[in-house]
Amino acid sequence: MNDREALVSELVGDRADTWDLTGLIPAEPLRKLGEAGLLCGELPEQYGGLGLSSLDNGRFTAHVGSLCSSLRSVMTSQGMAAWTIQRLGSAQQRADHLPRLTSGTLAAVGFSEPEAGSDLSAISTEIRPDGDDVVVDGRKVWVTAAHYAHLLVIFGRYGDGAAAVLVPADAPGVTVERVADPMGCRAAGHAGIRLDSVRLPRDHVLGGAGAALTMLVTAALSYGRMSVAWGCVGILRACLAAASRHAKSREQFGRPLGQHQLIGGHLADLLVAEQTATRVCEHASHRWDEGSPDMVTAAVLAKHVGATQAAAAAATAVQVLASAGASDGHVVARAYRDAKLMEIIEGSNELCRLMLAQHALSVSG
Ligand code: FAD
Repeated sequence: MNDREALVSELVGDRADTWDLTGLIPAEPLRKLGEAGLLCGELPEQYGGLGLSSLDNGRFTAHVGSLCSSLRSVMTSQGMAAWTIQRLGSAQQRADHLPRLTSGTLAAVGFSEPEAGSDLSAISTEIRPDGDDVVVDGRKVWVTAAHYAHLLVIFGRYGDGAAAVLVPADAPGVTVERVADPMGCRAAGHAGIRLDSVRLPRDHVLGGAGAALTMLVTAALSYGRMSVAWGCVGILRACLAAASRHAKSREQFGRPLGQHQLIGGHLADLLVAEQTATRVCEHASHRWDEGSPDMVTAAVLAKHVGATQAAAAAATAVQVLASAGASDGHVVARAYRDAKLMEIIEGSNELCRLMLAQHALSVSG
């Protein structure tokens, strides 16, 4: 275990289930991880970041995901916000805002709206120039980490195109309201955001305003997909470890569960799932680190494989533990709820399959 992983292990300790049950990550671990730049580890050192490669940050993300998917979700949001500012912001905006994200400021990213879920072309939030300012009106839903965030990266319409705008969470006209009782990742701080005539200096709009919405959204979502994919590797590792441990220690019919071939089959399936997702994530991170044109598709593939494997494997792990894992407060019960949500976010299973189908059509002769 490296120093980064050791720090997170210490900060989470055995508290992930309590955080899940109370629906809250305490301020201190978030502050410590934020100030250490660990919530967005790929940011270059010039912005106070760790300058990790996608592969190293991915492996770290898997470690966090193996401990607590809520914390990993907060990390995904922070990394996605950092990546969006890095990709879309001007040099001045990068210099102004990125060091904040490595010194304790927490961020969340809002695309989704009541009428714009899978189909983000239906976004209706409006970012309207008004003299030296812009005025933002709209509504976002299910924004991960918004409850904790000081800074909101909001996507909306801008003239004939689209833009992303940096909105301080305490700006007049911003209302953040938590999602009541989310099914999983319960401590990830999901919230709805209302933006009522929020007036901001025009330089809060990230450079590239008026660009095509798809281009802006794809840049941010690709980072999110990589992070979720590696987080799913973590869920898989936690499930494999819990199921193997239980299969060794629990005896039925005079021998350990793991000696019954059908349970052995479940353990083999868990190992195959963990290894498959790890390899696909490594492939995507290599493409990302090379800046390959293939990286967008590789991220979709990694997210889809990670999420589907994690959801199936978490169900298998609950099956192996049976009543021992069937109540809240157990790692596999938490994994079961958390993993299901990974099949919905950053491109649902169906949307990922549609994108992969498009890719298959485009590369066929
Ligand atoms: P819908 O779009 O209504 O889809 C319903 C079902 O129909 C899904 O199964 C979908 O796959 C399927 N479907 C839709 N269109 C098609 C199609 N063309 N072909 C086949 N099937 C289709 N949003 C943010 O902006 N920021 C966040 O940080 C964020 N975090 C989230 C965290 C969690 C835990 C969850 C659950 C959601 C989060 N979201 C966030 C919202 C998320 O991006 C949306 O839930 C997601 O895009 C799906 O949209 P929807 O829920 O409106 O489902």
